[in-house]
Amino acid sequence: MLAERYPYYLANRPKQPNAELAVTDKYSGEVVTHVALADAGAVEEAIAAAVRATGPMRRLAPYARQEVLEHCARRFRERAEEFALALCIEAGKPLRDARGEVTRLIDTFKAAAEEAVRNEGEVLNLEVSPRAAGYRGFTQRVPVGPCSFITPFNFPLNLVAHKVAPAIAAGCPFVLKPSDRTPVSAMLMAEVLAETALPEGAFSVLPTRLADVGPFIEDERLKLLSFTGSEKVGWELKARAGRKKVVLELGGNAACVVDHDQGERLDFVADRVAHGAFYQAGQSCISVQRVLVHESLYGALRERLVARARALRSGNPRDETTTLGPMIDEPAARRLQGWIERAVARGARVLAGGGRRGALLEATVLEGVPADEPLSAEEAFGPVVLLEPFRAFDEAVRAVNDGRYGLQAGLFTNELSKAMRAWDELEVGGVIVGDVPSFRVDTMPYGGVKGSGLGREGVKYAIEDMTEPRLLVLRQG
Ligand code: NAD
Repeated sequence: MLAERYPYYLANRPKQPNAELAVTDKYSGEVVTHVALADAGAVEEAIAAAVRATGPMRRLAPYARQEVLEHCARRFRERAEEFALALCIEAGKPLRDARGEVTRLIDTFKAAAEEAVRNEGEVLNLEVSPRAAGYRGFTQRVPVGPCSFITPFNFPLNLVAHKVAPAIAAGCPFVLKPSDRTPVSAMLMAEVLAETALPEGAFSVLPTRLADVGPFIEDERLKLLSFTGSEKVGWELKARAGRKKVVLELGGNAACVVDHDQGERLDFVADRVAHGAFYQAGQSCISVQRVLVHESLYGALRERLVARARALRSGNPRDETTTLGPMIDEPAARRLQGWIERAVARGARVLAGGGRRGALLEATVLEGVPADEPLSAEEAFGPVVLLEPFRAFDEAVRAVNDGRYGLQAGLFTNELSKAMRAWDELEVGGVIVGDVPSFRVDTMPYGGVKGSGLGREGVKYAIEDMTEPRLLVLRQG
């Protein structure tokens, strides 16, 4: 169960000046706890403390950073069930999805603990011409300094971890603003961070009103802004971020291609597509939204997918048998239902689902959705999947690329040449062959192109952003 109230964390310490942020159970809609809200003064204090912690964090020995990360991973393991329940309540995530996220949280910290003691430096041969005879170069990576992190509601633990764990491994102090809809998970993580020997000021976790969030984006003392969230907000923040580095992990309308040679394993394909489309009510940036199916298999896959959508058990996420929970709130579900109705008015057909009870939207399968409808062209971010037949593989490639997003794409094919072509031609951050675009492990480079973002996460890749190479040149003789 959740505590009655949670503090925020300012310069490693819990503070409870108020309890103004109400957090609801996303299934019942009831207020279940309150979290302290940081005001402009607290944000300033946190940034100043992070600046003071820059030297101590840089000097913290790699083994000491590793110990901090290992401690966290150990404590997360011990508290796994409690964390999963918090996710289940504040994000409306079915317990099995919530437990999966806690497992990934632990993976992310374990990966960061390993990276913390790796030396990514280079030895450079500088003797490119006679004038450089006797010179050699070396690089080491040094932390960029204080970082600013802003995170979304849909993975309130693991997407916080994807910023926090690499920052500790890299030696960067940070200030973090979690989503105001799901702040509790980040507070539980901060509780564990506060048990460690991180230098004072190394971390602040501050739920903040939008009116007070400006310094997270604009303050020049912060050297990197890493934002995960919606496309519109992300690009707006980049325009305000001044000289700092910016990493944007934004939305998508991920597509999955099913080629003609998948007949033998169509049940597996249908299982994976249904999982990719409907897990955590489709509220994942790489949720399967568009499925392009070779015309020879279209009817057979449609039948299987409809059956799987209807078989999902929707309801209370705390119930162990629930496989489809609510969307984050009723307006989000209403928005998506409106998009479905718009598409139907233009000739789309609902094959399964379409109904809604409060924030619970049924798992919905449609076909015949025009490509310029929001349901196809925008990010649905809910339990909805669109089917579309194709004839020639090139047509499918064009359809995947048609649009302004490019996070990941999935491709089911047995032909290596098509896999390679997709890898070369698809305008996305990652191509997943043999599975849905929703596949992610926490060590792989992850991120998008086009409207879907800028830069990559995945522990090692985030550390690259949080450090910069510093050159040493040695002249001999
Ligand atoms: P959101 O953009 O509404 O909010 C994200 C964060 O930004 C929250 O903390 C929010 O409070 C804050 N925020 C909102 N407006 C702001 C402003 N004007 N200034 C400063 N901060 C502001 O996104 P959301 O609804 O919480 O999350 C869903 C979105 O996140 C989807 O678009 C999803 O695709 C995307 N997402 C992307 C990834 C990825 O890794 N690419 C992962 C998960 C979610």
